Amino acid sequence: MLGGMQDWPLRVMRILDHAEREHGTREIVSLHAGGEKVRSDWAGVARDARKLARALERLGLRKGDRIGTLAMNHGRHLVAWYGAIGMGGVLHTVNTRLFDDQLVYIANHAEDRILFYDSGFAPLVERLKPRWTSIEHYVCFDGPGGPGDLSFDALLAAEGDDYAWVEGDEREPMMLCYTSGTTGNPKGVLYEHRSTLIHAMMQISPDIFDLSARSVVLPVVPMFHAAGWALPFSTAMVGGKLVYSTDYTPGVMCDLMHDEGVTHTAGVPTVWLALINYVEAAGRDLGRLGSVHIGGSAAPRAMIQYFTDRGVRVGHAWGMTEMSPLGTVGAATGDWDDLSAEQRLDYMCKQGRVPFGVELRTVDEEGRVLPRDGRSAGRLQTRGPWIIRQYFQDPGGEVIDEDNWFDTGDVAALHPNGVLQITDRSKDVIKSGGEWISSIDLENAAVGCPGVAEAAAVGVRHPKWDERPILLVVRKEGQEVTPQAILDHLAGHVAKWWLPDEILFVDSLPHTATGKLLKTALREQYRDYRLSSAA
Ligand code: ADP
Repeated sequence: MLGGMQDWPLRVMRILDHAEREHGTREIVSLHAGGEKVRSDWAGVARDARKLARALERLGLRKGDRIGTLAMNHGRHLVAWYGAIGMGGVLHTVNTRLFDDQLVYIANHAEDRILFYDSGFAPLVERLKPRWTSIEHYVCFDGPGGPGDLSFDALLAAEGDDYAWVEGDEREPMMLCYTSGTTGNPKGVLYEHRSTLIHAMMQISPDIFDLSARSVVLPVVPMFHAAGWALPFSTAMVGGKLVYSTDYTPGVMCDLMHDEGVTHTAGVPTVWLALINYVEAAGRDLGRLGSVHIGGSAAPRAMIQYFTDRGVRVGHAWGMTEMSPLGTVGAATGDWDDLSAEQRLDYMCKQGRVPFGVELRTVDEEGRVLPRDGRSAGRLQTRGPWIIRQYFQDPGGEVIDEDNWFDTGDVAALHPNGVLQITDRSKDVIKSGGEWISSIDLENAAVGCPGVAEAAAVGVRHPKWDERPILLVVRKEGQEVTPQAILDHLAGHVAKWWLPDEILFVDSLPHTATGKLLKTALREQYRDYRLSSAA
């Protein structure tokens, strides 16, 4: 047949080429601890990435080599991303909040040959150098670094910016992210050029992140958490402005949002709790903010309401490292105009709908597909072109079934209109009298109670019911709240048999390296707690 279309491999560096060519003067702003602000733009990022790619080749790095970063969010880190990928490397973003043993494990497992780091992590780097077996070069982003280390600025200063990105197949790997490994060792997820590029194309769309050239994006999510939720790619794709901060103090973030005109932001619920408390206490507002994406853990109703009351769109997002990370986002439905405020809020408390490219289903214990009736909860499975097939260097083989379904480890119900409702991680589910109690629902209902700052529901062994829930509660500073008040509040939101048998007040709750409640530790600690109801 005559006629046809052109082809080019769907490689990530085309995104940066586009940003440089079409949006070269659009800014990248980085606020560093201490108040220093560094301004660059997409043309500057592209130029510096070419210099860095040259420097990496000069150091002997080659296509496919793993290039580690241990850093906060800032423009130099962004240059390292694109420079590493541009020279054909596999960028490995290391989670700075992991414990020493995990940091040693993942850099050795990834066989990182070079590590870029922030001077703030210098003591950690010096401590672990003897245990990292594959790293040959250390590059400090903001200073000379330790003995024998290289300086990022000096590396760039020594290079010209004449460089052509390494080409290759669109299925080649370009990035490696490890899950935070709340159980066992972290597992590596290897992203490819093609999967990353098409993920970015869907991420910018209106129902997902709604990004455009006018967007000013402040990713609060760290660049090491699930590819920084892919915002470094999608923002470049539309030529948006990126605003980064290494300082997470709510007051500093609020100033930055005002000063730079931030329109879009994204992060886990815990960071928004702190920001909201600050904004309220200081009597401030959110500036030009139009959209906040909340994910990583379920967004509490009160938080969603807070933002929507102020005209800010909440994109309640569900995803995971294994999904690049986008799975679903709660965007307005076709019948949005006919819904009451309360109905809209009910909808937004769920995890939203899939974009084109992600498919979901739920199955029961025997693997039978469950109906999308909004009631049947089962194991959530997913498939699509940006979803994992096999973990990095995992001898266990592929983690999908013969039809490509990947088991997410989440328990969920799907509604007739396609909306996803996560009820738990399968490990966190509370099994009582043969039925499941959603710890997420309990926790989110609890934080809607005045005086409650944070809550965790965990299952405690029970002679009759197998397990019963208890609720661990952190009070809001300076506020009184009684167990009875919390129970009364919960009674309005969950089934009676879900109500916790006991409510215990604690000073703080443990969190994972990505800011989520550390349920494994809590379950260990309280599994054998003696309930008075069990006596
Ligand atoms: P980690 O395993 O390091 O926490 P991820 O960030 O990839 O890494 O975690 C993905 C998991 O986080 C999901 O499988 C799900 O359990 C949970 N999660 C993410 N977003 C949401 C959400 N909006 N609501 C409930 N759970 C969520």
